[in-house]
This record gives sequence, C-alpha cells and structure tokens, in this order.
Amino acid sequence: MAKPKQHIPKHLRYTKTQFEAQFPTDDVCLEHIKDNRWPNGITFCEKCQKQRKHHRVTGRTAYACDRCGTHIYPLAGTIFEKTSTSLTTWFYAMYLMAQTRCGISAKQIQRETGVTYKTAWRMFKQIRTLFAEDIVLSGPQVEMDETYMGGPRRGRRGRPPAGDKQKTCVVGIVERRGRVVAFTTENATRATLHGLATERILPESTVFTDELHSYDGLDKLGYEHKRINHSEKVYVVGDTHTNTIGGFWSLTKNGIRGVYHAVGKRYLQSYLNEYSFRYNRRDSEIPMFTLMLSRVWETAEKRVSRAQEIPLA
Ligand SMILES: [Zn+2]
Repeated sequence: MAKPKQHIPKHLRYTKTQFEAQFPTDDVCLEHIKDNRWPNGITFCEKCQKQRKHHRVTGRTAYACDRCGTHIYPLAGTIFEKTSTSLTTWFYAMYLMAQTRCGISAKQIQRETGVTYKTAWRMFKQIRTLFAEDIVLSGPQVEMDETYMGGPRRGRRGRPPAGDKQKTCVVGIVERRGRVVAFTTENATRATLHGLATERILPESTVFTDELHSYDGLDKLGYEHKRINHSEKVYVVGDTHTNTIGGFWSLTKNGIRGVYHAVGKRYLQSYLNEYSFRYNRRDSEIPMFTLMLSRVWETAEKRVSRAQEIPLA
C-alpha cells in the first residue's frame, strides 16, 4: 500500500531560499509567466499584423508593441488575471502548497504574508482549479473503488445510512503503478459506476473491484472483471485486491483530515484533483512547485481559447 512520503530526496528539494532567489519580485514572476507562454518572446503584434519587438510597460502587467503600442497581457486567461494580490504572494502560496505533504491551510499563508483570511482562502481555491485533468486510464490493470468523505467521522467503513447528506460518495480508479482519477458522485449505483468506468478505463483492461453489486456486469462492457470479497474479510487473493486505490484513499483522507478538518461537499472535487495531481507526479524528477506552477500557463491557453469562443453580444 502506498504510504505518504516522509522525506523528499535531496536532489528534488526546492528550498525556500531557492524559491526566494528565483522569484524575488513581481516583475520576475510576470517575466517568468511571459517567457513560458511565449517561449520565443512576444514577437507578433495583432494590430500591426507584423513581427514586432515588444517592451515591458512600466508599472503595468503588460508588454507593448514597439511600433504601435498595443498591449499584451501575460496574465490574461490565467488564475492571476484579475487579482489585486501580488504575484510573489501567489507564487509563495503555490510554493507552500507544493512543499507541504498534506497541503496547507489558508491560516498559514495569512500569518506569513499578511493577506486576509478570506483572500488566502480564495487564493487556494483558485490554485486548486489548476489541477483538474482529463485522464483516460490505459490499464492494463486498474482498481476501482467507492468510498465516502466529508461530514463527521464515523467508526465504520462503508455506505452511510440513507438520508445522511453530509457524506459524499467518491469513486476512484487507479492504474497499478500508474495514475489515478477520483470523482465525487451523487451515488454508487450501477449506472454511475458503469458510466465512469466506460469514460475513464480503456476497453480490455482488467478491472479489480470489491463485491458491491453495482459493479456487476463490468465484464459485459468489455473488461476483464476480478473482485475481492471484503465482506468476508478477504483482502488479497493472488493479484486480486484493491490495495492500490486503498492507499490513495488513505493519503487523501489523512491529508484532508489533518489540514482542512472538514471539506464541504462543494469543494471536495477540487481537493480530490489536488491529491490526484500530486499522486500522478509522485515519481517525477521535477520539483512539485515547478509542476504546479506550469499549470498556470498550461491551463491559460485553454481559458483564453474558451473565452474566444464566446460570441460578442
Ligand atoms: Zn503593433
């Protein structure tokens, strides 16, 4: 079973000193985003319809065409677009989030940077929007499992009593030695679970589940279906088990319990996205902060193209 990493190997450590040396000012942060969105520099002016040199506009988050002065905003379409919080504070919030095994509370960023609790809380909420990914698992062996999160802690694992609205059903699917996806769902019915399976698992994969009846019929969807009988206290038979997804559940539940105490239903999906993002990069040679930061421009392109699809009124 996957255990939370206690230590980050030395060569992967990205210290606060390194962070502060790399991103000392808002200008450096802006330049970093610009350089990553336009790796060859901003070379084209839409107004001139020509290759043009651009220069930084002092005091604004803009670059301007040397000839006609038209502005380009590197933050447009990013989570920083409309912010009045400094970029260094945003970067530091992301740094803290990346460094802390269990995530970080808004209280800490409030203490360390002086932003209000409300602002800090909004920042983390915004940062978490970066972690949504559209992944289809390629197997060949995947484990699928459902669990319940949120609300008061209960002694027993399993489905909450009918009418318990505080707990949210969460369905997770994981490739063995691979990636995970996790979703909040309205229920754990056959329709829901089969729907998620066909959406997220490539046909012909072997799917390991427990004995819940909702999984019945996965074999008819083109999967090889193997199940373990947890109700009879059997957890492993040969390669049949759901311990990999079990490991992901404990990482996520411990993280949420340790830092956020209780996560409301509305926000649970974004926390699942954050934990999946971390899990899916657990073997990366790149520091987590760098991986998280690159989502700013990776998702910005999509945000901009979505915005452009909206016709003008
Ligand atoms: Zn121009």
